[in-house]
Amino acid sequence: MSRYSKEEIVQSVPQKGFFGHPKGLFTLFFTEFWERFSYYGMRALLLYYMYTEVASGGLGIDDGTAKSIMAIYGSLVYMSGIIGGWIADRLLGTQQTVFYGGVLIMAGHLVLALPAGTTALFISMFLIVVGTGLLKPNVSSVVGDLYSPSDVRRDSGFSIFYMGINMGALIAPLIVGTLGQEYNYHLGFGVAAVGMLLGLAVFLATKRKYLGLAGTYVPNPLERDEKKKVFTRIGLGAVAIIIVGAITIPAGILTINRFTYLVSFLGIIIPTLYFIVMYRSPKTDADEKSRLLAYIPLFIAAIMFWAIQEQGSIILAEYADKRTDLSFLGIELQSSWFQSLNPLFIVVLAPFFAGLWVKMGERQPSTSKKFSLGLLFAGLSFLVMIIPASMNGTESLVSPVWLVLSFLLVVIGELCLSPVGLSATTKLAPEAFSAQTMSLWFLSNASAQAINAQIVKLYTPETEIIYFGVIGGIAILLGAMLFMLSSKIQHFMKGVR
Ligand code: GLU
Ligand code: ASP
Repeated sequence: MSRYSKEEIVQSVPQKGFFGHPKGLFTLFFTEFWERFSYYGMRALLLYYMYTEVASGGLGIDDGTAKSIMAIYGSLVYMSGIIGGWIADRLLGTQQTVFYGGVLIMAGHLVLALPAGTTALFISMFLIVVGTGLLKPNVSSVVGDLYSPSDVRRDSGFSIFYMGINMGALIAPLIVGTLGQEYNYHLGFGVAAVGMLLGLAVFLATKRKYLGLAGTYVPNPLERDEKKKVFTRIGLGAVAIIIVGAITIPAGILTINRFTYLVSFLGIIIPTLYFIVMYRSPKTDADEKSRLLAYIPLFIAAIMFWAIQEQGSIILAEYADKRTDLSFLGIELQSSWFQSLNPLFIVVLAPFFAGLWVKMGERQPSTSKKFSLGLLFAGLSFLVMIIPASMNGTESLVSPVWLVLSFLLVVIGELCLSPVGLSATTKLAPEAFSAQTMSLWFLSNASAQAINAQIVKLYTPETEIIYFGVIGGIAILLGAMLFMLSSKIQHFMKGVR
């Protein structure tokens, strides 16, 4: 167990100094701001970099494969959070884990800054997948450590942190995207690396004074003999993976396509196992089991939601590049700039939604109803994209306004589902698994993108109407089912709202 009590940790953090919040929130806000800047800046360029032909500075990967890679990559980035959570919990503590994560992420962007082709791409992906797994769930969970459990500022602390995420995501495409598309992709990726460097600098310079003891201890350290066993297993596992890779990749057995299937399979199997283990654990009591059952439909809804939301940087990014008229009111737009729309709408509308829920108080929709609203709006964000092709066919370019509308709709859904989802996870996850809460929630995104890896290949201008129609329609249907089930789900939640 930890050497410090929760109270001692909270007392070690200066409790004021950042908008009436603990000073440590400053550190976490800017660390995550810059990490998301680097991540979303890179994502705003990556698809284009992959499918642009070699002569124009890209990698010349075929469209469908490039889109699948975007999805698997996104999936692995969130899946690896499980490992990051485990390392913080049992080996290093959150502060050190966040630091190493930041270093790996920065290295990953630097590798892409080199004009070194597909090999560099895969090395960079590996570094960023592991790095983000170490950093992201842990930096978020330190936010929780800054406040005593009864502190009323807690929720608003998470909202401020969420703003930091989206502000980083908002400016990134405008800076990284512009440099990458107007000058050179590698310059863009280089600037993403600089962003992560700034995040690390803020973290290192302020953590001692602002974070106090938060995240400095290992909550559930491995015993010495356990350590030996675990390290041996990890070592053997790594060797096995390297051997299998070294044989199957050159032999053409493990192709990108097959790897995609493997990740999609993992995306379904991992959360399923998680649920089974939590449900069957002797540490989970009867009420907690009931809450877990209530969590399953919410989790599935979250998967559907993120599947649509995350296609913003894949399908809608391709749409911005190939189907949209980029001269608008005399300005030449860059296709990467559309990636700023989601975070822009989040930053603008989040305070409004927060205020709305407070104002509605007891009358506000329950968690499952908010989730069904999330699905409804996500579905609508795809259904509107049917209109331009139905009106004018897919031969001519369409007004950028359609994409703006689509991003606006998905964000309305996101604000109903995403902030609520994390808090519902913390309330519904069994006590014994609370350390994994953050990773569990990110798994909904990981699964969504694992499934996307198969779906996104199907989009082409010719299939556009069916593509948006079917996916949007399924989301709305699921939303309606969830709505009808919501009082049942509420009952299974045993008092949690
Ligand atoms: N876009 C958010 C982020 O990057 C959401 C991720 C999620 O909750 O799945 O933090
Ligand atoms: N809204 C996303 C998240 O909350 C950011 C994005 O998609 O750009 O961070």
